Amino acid sequence: MASSTATLEKIVALCKRRGFIFQSAEIYGGINGVYDAGPMGTLMKENIKTAWKQSLLSQLDKDIVFLDGAQLGTEAMWKASGHLENFHDPLVECKACNARFRADDIDLNGNCSRCGKKNWTEVREFNLMFKTQLGASVEQSSSAYLRPETAQSIFVNFKNVLTSSRVKIPFGIAQIGKAFRNEVTPKQFIFRMREFEQMEMEWFCSAASALDFYAFWREERRKFYSAIGIAPEHIHMRDHDKDELSHYSSGTADVEYDFPFGRKELEGIAYRGNYDLTQHSAHSGKDLAVFDDAAGASFVPHVVECSVGVDRLFLTLLLEAYAEEETEGGPRTVLRLHPSIAPIKAAFCPLVDKLSEPFEKVYRRFRACGHSVQFDSSGSIGKRYRRQDEIGTPYCFTYDFDSEKDGKVTIRYRDDMRQERIDISAIDAFVNVKGPFIAPNC
Ligand code: ATP
Repeated sequence: MASSTATLEKIVALCKRRGFIFQSAEIYGGINGVYDAGPMGTLMKENIKTAWKQSLLSQLDKDIVFLDGAQLGTEAMWKASGHLENFHDPLVECKACNARFRADDIDLNGNCSRCGKKNWTEVREFNLMFKTQLGASVEQSSSAYLRPETAQSIFVNFKNVLTSSRVKIPFGIAQIGKAFRNEVTPKQFIFRMREFEQMEMEWFCSAASALDFYAFWREERRKFYSAIGIAPEHIHMRDHDKDELSHYSSGTADVEYDFPFGRKELEGIAYRGNYDLTQHSAHSGKDLAVFDDAAGASFVPHVVECSVGVDRLFLTLLLEAYAEEETEGGPRTVLRLHPSIAPIKAAFCPLVDKLSEPFEKVYRRFRACGHSVQFDSSGSIGKRYRRQDEIGTPYCFTYDFDSEKDGKVTIRYRDDMRQERIDISAIDAFVNVKGPFIAPNC
């Protein structure tokens, strides 16, 4: 079975063809760097988020709670966090055609890739936050910003969570939510977007334990990626050089993946010291320290952060799963997604139309229980298998003329296209897909 691997172009085409990702407002020409998830994409994104949540909840000896913060933040908040002053990219413009580029993306000694001329403006810093106004009229309004990362909602709520939940240092606050960055050049499909979703966990601990926790979470995050189906050899942990580190960080590592356009960051893991809580404490005038009973003194907790984009991980999983293969029955495109990530867990296929009725009853039982399954009765059975392969459905069940007599169906496995007969009652075990972080006895 010869196979060829993914390119970005092939993934983009598949995403549109099969309803994973659409350019936002495409009928009006689209918005650069903004995408909508289609029916398959919506299910798959939810599965990614569930896997991430479950990976944290399965840390049985760790207290981790969740937060759902607002997307609008006040000017004061972003001033304290340093984003107003520092969250920018170097921007350069071609004076001949007005194309804009990130200065660190291009060779300023070379010519413009759009018009071929060489006539650059000075490099200037461009703040990546989207600014908006609160209030009905401009005069009465005050500025607010769409959050460029979810983490700050966690820091500003640190005391609220601490006093309202039964958590004690060390503990984590995790959040999944939208973030917005006015990227100069959004590109590589959903790798760099202007509106995207992040999954971030801030782990609050003492200064003395922080480096151990940093090492611990680095390892856990590596395990996470292999558990959801990314080959360990495609994941690389790259420690930031000293000159790359933020001034408050004593350790940052990028989890990198081999994308078709190079090895790039998938997740950032950072030991942030106690910079964020200290800043918010100083700017808000609220004491964000906690009392340490053993030491009889207060301290501002230190933080280890794990931060990954849902959409960037989505792209990674598609690239990892995608294959084009020559098979005896002709070429096929298949997504070998981990079953817990696959949008559809199983397809129910009556061999011919007139067998639809009895099998649809079986299918409906699973739908009624909330399982993500499809009833697929149109086209030849081979075509239906190919269609399910392309959206990564791990199992197809085919109901034929014998099924009525022997109570069995044919299961066809996505990965090796093997087929065997199983009892209809055994379907349950395949459809009830457990995530990799759920204990086998659950
Ligand atoms: P990059 O260097 O790629 O711009 P970053 O270092 O600015 O990333 P962080 O601020 O560390 O990114 O954000 C954490 C994670 O959020 C990233 O690892 C990535 O998965 C995701 N992310 C950041 N910016 C974007 C974006 N514009 N589009 C999609 N995902 C993003």
